[in-house]
Amino acid sequence: MTLERSKTDILILGSGGAGLFAALHAHDADPDLSVTVASKGLLGKCGCTRMVQGGYNVALHPGDSVERHFMDTIEGGKWLPHQELAWTLCETAVERVQELENEIGCFFDRNPDGTLHGKAFAGQTFDRTVHKGDLTGIEIIGRLMEQVWARPIARLEEHRAVALIPAAGERTIAGVLFIDIRSGEFRLVEAKAVLLATGGGPTMYRYHTPSGDKSMDGLAMALRAGLPLRDMEMVQFHPTGLLAGPDTRMTGTVLEEGLRGAGGYLLNGDSVRFMEGVYENAERATRDVVSRAIYREMREGRTTPNGGVYIQMSHLDRDYVVKTFKGMVERCADCRFDLAGGLVEIVPTAHYLMGGVVCAPDTSTELPGLFVAGEDAGGVHGANRLGGNGVANSTVFGGIAGDRMAEWVRVDGASLKPDEAVIGAELERARRPFKARPGNIEAIREKLLGLMWDNVGVVRDKDDLAAGAERLDELAEELVTDVGLAEADPAFNLTWHDWLNMRSLIEMSQVIAKTALQRENSRGAHYRDDFPDTGSLVNSHFTIARKADEQIAVTEERVYFTRIRPGESLLQAGAGDGGGADATKAAE
Ligand SMILES: Cc1cc2nc3c(=O)[nH]c(=O)nc-3n(C[C@H](O)[C@H](O)[C@H](O)COP(=O)(O)OP(=O)(O)OC[C@H]3O[C@@H](n4cnc5c(N)ncnc54)[C@H](O)[C@@H]3O)c2cc1C
Repeated sequence: MTLERSKTDILILGSGGAGLFAALHAHDADPDLSVTVASKGLLGKCGCTRMVQGGYNVALHPGDSVERHFMDTIEGGKWLPHQELAWTLCETAVERVQELENEIGCFFDRNPDGTLHGKAFAGQTFDRTVHKGDLTGIEIIGRLMEQVWARPIARLEEHRAVALIPAAGERTIAGVLFIDIRSGEFRLVEAKAVLLATGGGPTMYRYHTPSGDKSMDGLAMALRAGLPLRDMEMVQFHPTGLLAGPDTRMTGTVLEEGLRGAGGYLLNGDSVRFMEGVYENAERATRDVVSRAIYREMREGRTTPNGGVYIQMSHLDRDYVVKTFKGMVERCADCRFDLAGGLVEIVPTAHYLMGGVVCAPDTSTELPGLFVAGEDAGGVHGANRLGGNGVANSTVFGGIAGDRMAEWVRVDGASLKPDEAVIGAELERARRPFKARPGNIEAIREKLLGLMWDNVGVVRDKDDLAAGAERLDELAEELVTDVGLAEADPAFNLTWHDWLNMRSLIEMSQVIAKTALQRENSRGAHYRDDFPDTGSLVNSHFTIARKADEQIAVTEERVYFTRIRPGESLLQAGAGDGGGADATKAAE
């Protein structure tokens, strides 16, 4: 085993919207700095920013305002968001979208008068979601990638970060340990500033939407480095994931919410429209409400052949459905469903993790020199993320991180000696599966997916969560002791990486289960059958998980209402006309 060593001023983990924006801003802030982007996948081809369909929330139009966007974000997040982070998101999104068009080269859809078209999205009081058809992410990542290629920014593709390495004797970051996936060799990159932008990704649920390269590695590394994670119980489920059986990766992928917005019906396995007359707005209720309603039908056994429910569009005009939802019609046809004329099986699917590393609005963390942005960062969305605020979050805070890291390197950054003892322990940890006899990793995955879905999923209660947490501990033990690779070749060994993915996912599942047990109320995405009330908004608390002495400790901290308190509004009476306020809007 060899350990290659190299140095850079700024090291960025992840090449999604957050990582690439950070790289561009850091380079442009000081072209003399060496900037390196390291990514588990290929630049421009990995992560979820590329998968963004619906669009990007930004208050650009007359009648809308940063205040209105902020209020929607706070109310959508059920008063748990860190208000300074949320304000920074809404305020900076305006300049970021202009930067995307005028400097990065993106081109978004327009109104006849040339202004940017704003789509309607759920939970928002204005149609502010800027987009490029329903392939917004490809436009953004494609152009960002070209800009990065055009600059002297170093790239480490197919490099998996496995550990944050502190400085010897100091609580400061000194570098990151990687596996070069192609060669199987380890590489240490020493850096004065590091950005964690690995994109979270709750892929530990039976049904999930994020890209396959995401396995919560960044959060697992942060937890191990002693950093606090907040809101980890907040996993967003999208109600309409395609359900096409266990043999296709299409199962779990999103069918956009606009189908319900346009008047689609949800039917259970007995062909009954189960939301009508029971839930306000019926199928047009918000994501969390619809996901729970579907889940209840599934629990009661009123399901389709594959175990979900149906979405029906056939009562609407066929040409309208085909024209308006072309991509969705094609996706369903690929799985032999006729969206415009028949029934399509669907299931709630884990979509986004609101929780993440505790950080300040300038993206700094508790560990000097370590910054965090995008889906790895906690606090922006609180208990629920609005559709369209995800890509805004990663690009806004990625850019801020790039600026801030350049300043940090100039003012405070120094090349520090990495802690060799930590490097040694982390090398051992990563090579651990080579020391055990081969086992069945697929069986572990199946157990994890089922366990998280059944015990820590859409609807939770104390008994299920406690049993789930216990079984997760057993699963962690089983993975480490019973499932190995023996003397396998480490070069491009995807089973090794699967094993490492599984370990990150199990560790983060333990955190989700423990924080979900701690929160004894139901807020946004987190629903407890045994505690269905939201709890007092003015006394809102958020959870913090930390690792100490190999144990995960969960505590609660009070939400500071730095700009607005529950019951108040930043909007002047009559200000901003709004663009429609119901939940019947399209979404990603
Ligand atoms: C299907 C889908 C549709 C969506 N639609 C919308 C939408 O319409 N609007 C919206 O606002 N949001 C949407 N989202 C959410 C949005 O995609 C994310 O919030 C956002 O893109 C996350 O950006 P990021 O930069 O944090 O992470 P990502 O873009 O996911 O990038 C993560 C990067 O980290 C890398 N990485 C992971 N682990 C490691 C490791 N160990 N070492 C090195 N690199 C690593 C990955 O390879 C990748 O390069 C959607 C998500 C999905 C899944």
